[in-house]
Amino acid sequence: MGFVGVPTIEHAHIETQDFDNAPEEASLKYVYSFGAGKADGNGEMKDALGGKGAGLAEMTLIGLPVPAGFTISTLACDHYFKNKKTYPKTLRKEVHEHVRKLERVSGKKFGDRKDPLLVSVRSGSARSMPGMMETILNLGLNDESVDGLARLTNNERFAFDAYRRFIQMYSTVAIGLSKDELEHKLKALKQRQGVKDDTKVSAAGWRELVAEYKAFFRQKAGRAFPEDPEEQLWGAIGAVFGSWMAEKAVTYRRVEKITGLLGTAVNVVQMVFGNKGESSGTGVCFTRDPSTGKKEFYGDFLVNAQGEDVVAGIRTPVPLSEMKSLMPKVYGQLERVRTLLEKHYRDMQDMEFTVEEGKLYMLQTRTGKRTPAAAFVMAVDMANEKLISREEAVGRVKGEDIERLFYPVIDPGIVKAELQKRKLASGINAVPGAAVGKAVFSAQDAESWAGRGERVILVRRETSPEDVGGMFVAQGILTATGGKTSHAAVVARGWGKCCVVGCEELDIDYARKEMRVNGRVVREGDWITLDGSYGDVLEGEIDLKRPEPPAAYETLMKWADKIRRLRVRTNADTPVDSRKARAMGAEGIGLCRTEHMFFKDFEQPERSEERQLAIQKMIVAETREARQKALAKLLPLQRRDFVGIFKAMDGLPVTIRLVDPPLHEFVPHDRENQQRLAKDIGVNVEAVARRVAQLKEANPMLGHRGCRLAITYPEILEMQVRAIIEAAIECKKQGVKVLPEIMHPLTLDRKEMWILEQGTRRVADEIIKQSGTKLDYLVGTMIELPRAALLADQIAEVAEFFSFGTNDLTQTTMGLSRDDAGRFLPDYVDQDKAAIFADDPFQSLDEAGVGLLMRWAIERGRSTRKNLKIGICCEHGGDPASVRFCHRAGMDYVSASPFRVPIARLAAAQVVLEDRAEAKNRKKRR
Ligand code: PEP
Ligand code: MG
Repeated sequence: MGFVGVPTIEHAHIETQDFDNAPEEASLKYVYSFGAGKADGNGEMKDALGGKGAGLAEMTLIGLPVPAGFTISTLACDHYFKNKKTYPKTLRKEVHEHVRKLERVSGKKFGDRKDPLLVSVRSGSARSMPGMMETILNLGLNDESVDGLARLTNNERFAFDAYRRFIQMYSTVAIGLSKDELEHKLKALKQRQGVKDDTKVSAAGWRELVAEYKAFFRQKAGRAFPEDPEEQLWGAIGAVFGSWMAEKAVTYRRVEKITGLLGTAVNVVQMVFGNKGESSGTGVCFTRDPSTGKKEFYGDFLVNAQGEDVVAGIRTPVPLSEMKSLMPKVYGQLERVRTLLEKHYRDMQDMEFTVEEGKLYMLQTRTGKRTPAAAFVMAVDMANEKLISREEAVGRVKGEDIERLFYPVIDPGIVKAELQKRKLASGINAVPGAAVGKAVFSAQDAESWAGRGERVILVRRETSPEDVGGMFVAQGILTATGGKTSHAAVVARGWGKCCVVGCEELDIDYARKEMRVNGRVVREGDWITLDGSYGDVLEGEIDLKRPEPPAAYETLMKWADKIRRLRVRTNADTPVDSRKARAMGAEGIGLCRTEHMFFKDFEQPERSEERQLAIQKMIVAETREARQKALAKLLPLQRRDFVGIFKAMDGLPVTIRLVDPPLHEFVPHDRENQQRLAKDIGVNVEAVARRVAQLKEANPMLGHRGCRLAITYPEILEMQVRAIIEAAIECKKQGVKVLPEIMHPLTLDRKEMWILEQGTRRVADEIIKQSGTKLDYLVGTMIELPRAALLADQIAEVAEFFSFGTNDLTQTTMGLSRDDAGRFLPDYVDQDKAAIFADDPFQSLDEAGVGLLMRWAIERGRSTRKNLKIGICCEHGGDPASVRFCHRAGMDYVSASPFRVPIARLAAAQVVLEDRAEAKNRKKRR
């Protein structure tokens, strides 16, 4: 039996309303009042009162004009959902008492025939969820009180307009009746009256509409519209709580990664009216411009209107600056509120206000959302104005703000509905930003189309090293499989190139050069647009915008650099990327993946084929001699690459990793290319095909790869070490300061590492000796396997540095394929499904498992080699949460792709600030 006794048709949450009898609830306080300069709560109580409730309490306390009201805390919402949609036992009494209190403060009575108390009922959680939850205005009106309001205001039109709005909102929000049908009735009325604007509807018209709405309510709900204000109030409270779990709100929280909240609060506030004539109005304003960050009072204002007119877009508001001439006195007052609130909250505020017959009321204040550029501008300006400290300014911006400063984005002016219409499919958002181009389905086609000056998007089921040429020239990359550490994602991230992976809805037909997706066909040459920030694939050529980082960005990053301890390097394989990364603040290279050079000559692209053939010849060779001959061809090419990189990184350390992927990835798999290779080496194509088949492994990720290749084929190691050391000496002779660090991937054992280290030093020392110069270099390893981490003390006896490769270490620790886990990992992360992990472990380090191994390896490694240099060089190196972990685990550096270098720099500074704050708090607690 429901307390309110509302038999609902669509909203089950009201049907089940009841009061729980749990005895322990009795002592809890659920309702907090504010008004007449006093408030039970304050601005700190966001968790319990929600942002809106906390803001109203705080504004009341600092003496701003706020209508009186009360807030039902999020605790009650939590109880509601944990107890089969029932309210806490004491809530009824508390709400009842607060209504009475509100009546006393306002001097009005609920349902009064002469001067009724009217309230708004709004949701508000600790984190702002714009437009996601519900609001009901003018609650308290009924057939009697509406007449009272009409008499009191001497404005029948106004009273019945308020009443029809209330019935409309209550019917749709609390009961779930169709909004469209009600809107339809309003439209019909306006047609009958021959008016376009709501403001032109007569009092009689609104009366008529009220009657129509009520009849509609009776017909659909099977009972009369509730006349009792308390019954109305409980219906509204149930609706607000219910809206917390509405699909759109749940989805919003999932997308924005909002977790750990108790629920929504309910704010019941005395109504003030902005639609009482020309001296009334309503508006929204920001203490600074949220798009540019400039210190300019910014906002919208609407004369003679209620808040929802602005939101619904029924009427177009005027810029706030016009309010200055329309209502100079109130505007002056609002300016003073602006200054006061910004000083008080020490951040940009987003405020809602209403002017009722010349009197200003503040209805809301909260920290305003801002564009990424504005975030930097405001943080730096506020520090310069001494409103906040430089440290606080560094804490104010987010990694995503930086990301969005550099990547092109879909023109924000394009309406969402248009984009929705064009959406073909969604995949995993591997690299942010957007890209536009004509679809091509092979790397070779990408190169030839791009060679003709076309912009292309490379679409593949997956990519492999042989595709890098095509990937390089493409505007963006789209794959049907793979996750955030798949080949496509890792390579594209290195270039800051938009990339969507794991888009399983794509049915790609290489032979026909087309893909089918959700009933549509995209053929070679058709325009498509990728949105790598959201993982969307869209049809057609959509306009993009490239944002310009403001000067404040550089200033703030300099402040961050002064705070951090952790060094930040980059993952770069070419001189161009190295220079780019250096410009973004990289302090060296943490990972140069040499295999990327085997397929593409980034400096002289026309010579790429030379490299491809040389490496392929080496792989298919049957003897050591034949391999050495092929490697001799690669030597000068690799040496040239390294010279370019060393020069770009003059004075900074460069970690070069020897070949890592299984060789099978480099050989041609199609007949045409096998024939080309066969012809070049003078054997028949079957021999090549046989060798390719021989190299195939059931599980290549755990197969013949990494340093296992150098154990089997030491000549590869010899060639690569030679290329590195010769390049270093050449640079040194030209006055470049070189600090090479030679890195062996995937070590699993001390003896294995010792053989590699000895092999490396033999070659390197011989070349150095012959050159007659001195050259310091380091030999180290990646820690990518649990065994290497466990036996780190032994491995550190031979390795001079460790670099964690947590793409592989995550894969091998969790037993999840980094290439295929994208298919099911979303379920593990989805808070509405399994919710096993908070984040994709390939994106944000699994601190509990992989992190434990890392801490162990760091401690053990340093137990045998005190000055062991330790870094991380995988995708996690650019993830803010993982960077925080690396700092706390005592690493020396992180290495991230060039565009993520500033993100890592910022996170490395923020973790210092967070730890300082935590230490301070701990001290205080003691
Ligand atoms: C890693 O495994 O984390 C790593 C950096 O190496 P790769 O991604 O090239 O395997
Ligand atoms: Mg690896």
